[in-house]
Amino acid sequence: MNEHDSERIAGLLTAGGMVPTEELGDAEVVVFNTCAIRENADNRLYGQLGHLRPLKQRNPRMRIVVAGCLAQKDQGRILQRAPWVDVVVGTHAIGSLLDLVRLAEREGPQMDVREYTEVFPSALPAVRGDRHRAWVSVSVGCDNRCTFCIVPLVRGPQRSRAIGDVLAEVQGLAGQGVVEVTLLGQNVNTYGRDITVPGSSRRPLFADLLRAVNEVEGIRRIRFTSPHPAHFTDDVIAAMAESENVCEHIHFPLQSGSDRVLHLMNRSYRQARYLAWVLRIREAIPEVAFSTDIIVGFPGETEGDFRETLRVVEEARFDSAYTFQYSPRPGTRAAGLEDQVPKEVVQERFDRLVALQEGISLERNRALQGRTVEVLVEGEGRKGGAQGRTRSNKVVHFEGEPRPGEFLDVTVTGAHPHHLDARDARPARSVTVDREPAAAAS
Ligand code: SAM
Ligand code: SF4
Repeated sequence: MNEHDSERIAGLLTAGGMVPTEELGDAEVVVFNTCAIRENADNRLYGQLGHLRPLKQRNPRMRIVVAGCLAQKDQGRILQRAPWVDVVVGTHAIGSLLDLVRLAEREGPQMDVREYTEVFPSALPAVRGDRHRAWVSVSVGCDNRCTFCIVPLVRGPQRSRAIGDVLAEVQGLAGQGVVEVTLLGQNVNTYGRDITVPGSSRRPLFADLLRAVNEVEGIRRIRFTSPHPAHFTDDVIAAMAESENVCEHIHFPLQSGSDRVLHLMNRSYRQARYLAWVLRIREAIPEVAFSTDIIVGFPGETEGDFRETLRVVEEARFDSAYTFQYSPRPGTRAAGLEDQVPKEVVQERFDRLVALQEGISLERNRALQGRTVEVLVEGEGRKGGAQGRTRSNKVVHFEGEPRPGEFLDVTVTGAHPHHLDARDARPARSVTVDREPAAAAS
């Protein structure tokens, strides 16, 4: 979401006639688009602002902008702690960023941290880092109240975008050569709860949206992030299974495997239900890959609770996991809980979790050895050659000319926890999920 907002900020600045500079000291506008999800983001912002102060003294034309979630959270405190900042622009006011910079030039520091979005970031111009893949926001904000999470406080309640607007944007992107879209929302699968289908009282469903985007000509891959497990209904599973362009990858945030901790987190599902969903989805979409988010060291988490998390990880067999050490966020319910877990205990549990998941990721990737997979080429590999991504969202390195946007079939030759090696790149034959060698030859 934050990267998507950054592309829009770059788009606004470019539309305003600005060009990127390589030299920070020469910049007339410097924008920090901040994240507030964990504490180290705060620390980094103030460190960076300190670093910029002497550069601004040398270059008085420089305007410094702090945008995003931390701007929404800290508001006037940013100007108090770093009075050399010119503009503070919250999550709902990105569209005004350029006007605020111009105003700051004439009138001094400006701040817009309004509580309501009038313009979806996707409706703003964009400078995208990738010509073939694009994010499309379908909703902003979140109506849940997970006790660890600052998102509802900085992004506000959920607001869905009209299905027609989403489709118009996807069609426009397809016209520009985009072949893959990722539908974005904090809780994508509660999409539509706050709007109605034009001309009726019916609420659009996320499954409707998936099916509609699947029909857009030119778009060959559709992804979405993040769904909430509790809202992953059968109609979404059916829409995924029946829509050939919807990729076989689901980001399915677990957070904890302990029922007691899930309750404290205010997550509405429990271990057994979560595992049952994973099973049901695997039955409906056999080649599906799962990724997840897990928080270690939530207040009061015992060794027994943590072992429950390990148990779920063992059983669910995620392809990958984003693992986080719990970070207390001001204003959230969990930040006020006693019984914060000591740092060294959190670190030790975190290391055990990462080691377990790396082994499982490797095992899942090894199962693809010898298979043909379709990759969308992203660019040059880190060690030369090319890099692409499978429909199941695995990074693949292979020999060959990196031609971004090309669909290739490759044969997997090697597996690592975080990527695959492959050879024999040839033009992809059709939209297919990862195939057994026999099927590929038929
Ligand atoms: N909407 C998504 C969901 O329901 O799972 C999560 C969005 S959040 C931006 C991404 C991830 O950050 C969460 O899934 C969670 O694992 C992690 N996270 C959020 N707050 C955190 C905190 N206070 N400490 C550590 N990790 C946190
Ligand atoms: Fe945060 Fe996701 Fe929970 Fe919303 S559903 S409060 S974004 S973790």
